[in-house]
Amino acid sequence: MELIKQFSLQHNNSFNIKTVSPILYQLNSLRDLSEIPDLDAECFYILGEGTNSLFVDTIAPVIIKPAFKGISISENDTNYIVNVASGENWHDLVTSCVQKGINGLENLALIPGSVGAAPVQNIGAYGVEFSDFCIQVNWYDFSSKTIKCLNSRDCLFGYRESIFKNEFFNKGIITEVSLSLPKIWQPKLSYLWLTGFRIEPKCF
Ligand SMILES: Cc1cc2nc3c(=O)[nH]c(=O)nc-3n(C[C@H](O)[C@H](O)[C@H](O)COP(=O)(O)OP(=O)(O)OC[C@H]3O[C@@H](n4cnc5c(N)ncnc54)[C@H](O)[C@@H]3O)c2cc1C
Repeated sequence: MELIKQFSLQHNNSFNIKTVSPILYQLNSLRDLSEIPDLDAECFYILGEGTNSLFVDTIAPVIIKPAFKGISISENDTNYIVNVASGENWHDLVTSCVQKGINGLENLALIPGSVGAAPVQNIGAYGVEFSDFCIQVNWYDFSSKTIKCLNSRDCLFGYRESIFKNEFFNKGIITEVSLSLPKIWQPKLSYLWLTGFRIEPKCF
């Protein structure tokens, strides 16, 4: 685990707010999870890429930054199974899948932020949501100090909602997500904006 004192968050939030965290704990591997000190739930913040976070003071809370990396892909007869570490960038994941001919996530391209934050608000755009493909979220529980594997139903996904925004808020860290993307694919063009501009499937 990397520990950085007096860490400037100016380039880690999309408002470029000048704020300094007294300590940032950067988690580079799952082994680092056991080294997180016991923190009061009120005085720390789990930070992805900070695109949906607003710091309102010059002194920020202690930051825990999951920076786990890695993507692995397997397949069965009908689907690709994509396992992604939470520190990966969401748009890079979408691009990488589309370049490999694995389709389904394209409507969610260009949504800023990390993979780990995607389940938190169940990101969505143009008629498609993260939960449409999510089959598992691995979540490190601070209280039991174990990684729990939650299936999509356990995550209580709703419109920009999940268990991670509510009951599990600041109680653990999303370490990995698993997505299932069907091999037989139809672009989803039903969203009003897309049909209005007559985007052809070949554009994707
Ligand atoms: C220009 C712009 C366009 C956007 N467009 C869309 C859009 O089309 N659709 C949409 O749904 N959203 C959109 N958003 C919102 C944003 O993209 C999402 O909320 C994204 O998931 C934020 O990712 P992040 O890594 O920056 O999260 P952060 O801002 O770092 O964190 C957001 C929340 O997630 C928690 N969190 C982050 N990582 C973890 C983790 N590993 N474990 C546990 N909790 C974690 C944080 O504690 C915080 O509560 C947009 C934002 C911007 C600025």
